[in-house]
Amino acid sequence: MNAILAIAEARAAGVKLGLDGDALALEASAPPPPAVIESLSRHKAEIIALLRPADDGWSALDWWTFFCERTRMAAVHGLTGIEAQARAFDCCVVERLNRNPVRSPPGRCLGCGQAEHSDDPLLPFGTEPTGHAWLHSRCWPAWHAARKAEAIAALAQLGITTSRTSL
Ligand SMILES: [Zn+2]
Repeated sequence: MNAILAIAEARAAGVKLGLDGDALALEASAPPPPAVIESLSRHKAEIIALLRPADDGWSALDWWTFFCERTRMAAVHGLTGIEAQARAFDCCVVERLNRNPVRSPPGRCLGCGQAEHSDDPLLPFGTEPTGHAWLHSRCWPAWHAARKAEAIAALAQLGITTSRTSL
């Protein structure tokens, strides 16, 4: 059993997991089964790492929970296992990009580093609340593809890929 499964088992038993500083904190309305406590303590260090939020505010467990929820939702909409996971993975990539917005000052292209030219204006990409990244339209596809690849690599580090089985 790995840490993710230990967490899933604990949640199924009605145990809420959290961090109290660097320690694992459990919250439950009734005493959890000894087997749950045992697997939590066996994977404690790994579980604490999974619960610790990253710079974008989400922990590895948040990403796993999001991925599993999206997989379930896709399945509800009639997608089969692998298709449902692929859809869920796409949602994770979009969420990752949204949670890690890039802003850049106007006047210089974030892609090629060049200034604006009269025949090649800089365009604002992104949404109002998070601000814009300024790029030439011809520089955007490569820049966006690199951002997407970065997001996919970051998710892979958490063990979230399209071929992975869900909980
Ligand atoms: Zn450019």
